Amino acid sequence: MPDRSPLLEITGLKTHFFLEQGIVRAVDGVNITVYRGQTVGVVGESGCGKSVMARSILRIEPPPGHIVEGQILFHQAFTRPGPNNGPSPNNSSSMSRSVDLVKLDARGKEIRGIRGAEISMVFQEPMTSLSPVHTIGSQIEEAILLHQDVSEGEARTHAIKMLESVGMPRPHDIIDRYPHQLSGGMRQRAMIAMALSCHPSLLIADEPTTALDVTTQAQILTLMRNLQQELGMAILFITHDLGVIAQMTEYVVVMYLGEVVESATVGEIFSQPKHPYTQALLNSIPQLGRKSLEGRHDRLMAIQGSVPDPYQIPKGCPFHPRCPYNDGDRCIREKPALREISDGHFAQCHYAEELELEGSVDLAQLSV
Ligand code: SF4
Repeated sequence: MPDRSPLLEITGLKTHFFLEQGIVRAVDGVNITVYRGQTVGVVGESGCGKSVMARSILRIEPPPGHIVEGQILFHQAFTRPGPNNGPSPNNSSSMSRSVDLVKLDARGKEIRGIRGAEISMVFQEPMTSLSPVHTIGSQIEEAILLHQDVSEGEARTHAIKMLESVGMPRPHDIIDRYPHQLSGGMRQRAMIAMALSCHPSLLIADEPTTALDVTTQAQILTLMRNLQQELGMAILFITHDLGVIAQMTEYVVVMYLGEVVESATVGEIFSQPKHPYTQALLNSIPQLGRKSLEGRHDRLMAIQGSVPDPYQIPKGCPFHPRCPYNDGDRCIREKPALREISDGHFAQCHYAEELELEGSVDLAQLSV
């Protein structure tokens, strides 16, 4: 029976940017829980705050942004050796400790001990994250030497093993290559190898396949899914692509203008969305043979309007200028709260129970 205790609990997280033009509330009161071994997807349009939220967890929020409120509880689990330091399982005990990442010094020793070891991140574009003047091997080895008590020789052997485990061809040769000598897919594999080299309990994947062609994307997603099952880690998967969400995640969080507007299991999000924004995202997924209610082959539907100016977030419901169900009264006056509509299904809409939204996406068609 897998351990499904909470691993990461984000509560009321706010990360704001204080600029000359005003305050950008990139993340504005986000609550997300990730359980051990679970894959949680975070989805939303560009600029909805999902990447800033992910970086806030690792305390690498991009300046001039900083966390102004909230809690990020990370529940660490470790094994304490018994009195004889013996190898017997009866001789050791499991311990846990909760640390609020918000309270840690972003440049301090404690967060540096967690970052890259217990929580790792894979970024969208490896070229901006990998050093162009160091070989792939030296970068993976550095991560291993930083967090593990091993010799340089052992770190190199472990790095080769990691490259092998992510399906890198000729790992003994590739380890001495520079990032520019590899293809996009190989660079992403190298980055995943680096992120997993210390066996993190949480992997944050921020649009890890967006810059790749569809064939390589499918390979990387399959690889991540296999590695997750093998290593039992949790994944927080950030993407704007609902097709990727369908393939990779168990629970989905939909963000809009720095807030969570809906969250539920992947099955419920796709079959019974409760927020008009989620429905609009679903309707914008291309699907073979999709027809309108009248039986016509429809054009792909775009979400009407555009994301509002971040300095002027609309009053009332933040989605009201774009919402086809806007009542022109309560929707523009009163901000809806994020409420639990059914077991584990939350939505931030005054009319979440009454609206009959169509969840017309066939999950099977989206899965690899
Ligand atoms: Fe639309 Fe009103 Fe619900 Fe907001 S509260 S999503 S405007 S129906």
